Amino acid sequence: MGRKIDYIIDLLNFYKALGFKELPNDFLKSLLKNSHSKSVKTESLLYSIVNIQSKKNNENLSESLIYNDDFSLSIGHKKNSAIDKLNQEIKECKKCPLSNSRKNPVCGQGNINAKLMFIGEAPGVDEDLQSIPFVGEAGKLLTNLIEKMGFNRQDVYITNTVKCHPPANREPFESEIEICFDYLKREIEIVSPKVIMTLGKVATYALMETKGKLKEIQISKIRGKVFFYREITVIPTFHPSYLLRNRKDKWLTWEDAQEALRRLK
Ligand code: SF4
Repeated sequence: MGRKIDYIIDLLNFYKALGFKELPNDFLKSLLKNSHSKSVKTESLLYSIVNIQSKKNNENLSESLIYNDDFSLSIGHKKNSAIDKLNQEIKECKKCPLSNSRKNPVCGQGNINAKLMFIGEAPGVDEDLQSIPFVGEAGKLLTNLIEKMGFNRQDVYITNTVKCHPPANREPFESEIEICFDYLKREIEIVSPKVIMTLGKVATYALMETKGKLKEIQISKIRGKVFFYREITVIPTFHPSYLLRNRKDKWLTWEDAQEALRRLK
């Protein structure tokens, strides 16, 4: 039964992220037997279900919840449409000066239903050329980590904080991070992962939402300290490019990856 409730909560969060404030009665009927309302506010249904979930003795309502495979198809379709729309916007984006220096914008890649998401800083030279996140040497290192965790790249979702390559591989400016953040926010809402690993200072800064404090963040001090972004567990760790230069710190990233695996259970 717990799986069904988790499923419904995921579903409602997804519809909420898409901007639905109310759900039609047909939808409601598919979820709850004996409902006579004309519509229901997404937020309040979600709130009720989360509350009900915590009341362990409420067997009657548990039994009245039903699971409908059609919803899985419908969610898959909606997620695909939402990510396609988002990627199209990124491909055409000229909202910040990085649009002048990039060769190609780089959209996220991977499983849009992934429970684990990796967020890097910005596309490098190889990514800019190929329009794929995390290729080249840093990409290989990330792929090794993902495989060591028991997954492959198709199982997880990989993206960057800013979607365009900064000139001379410099760190993105705070203004660029802020402008591009809307895309990352929407990506997270669509994928709705259980755990996010932020790779390096920039991604960690973006999810901490501490505007104007990029300079103060030191990833070596923050890594290993779990925090939450919109109730999603965030595990900051080193960027693979840093690990290529500081191989002795790889074991720390492996510790962070093990924490991610524990949180995914
Ligand atoms: S970095 Fe982001 S905001 Fe700037 S041009 Fe690229 S997609 Fe648009």
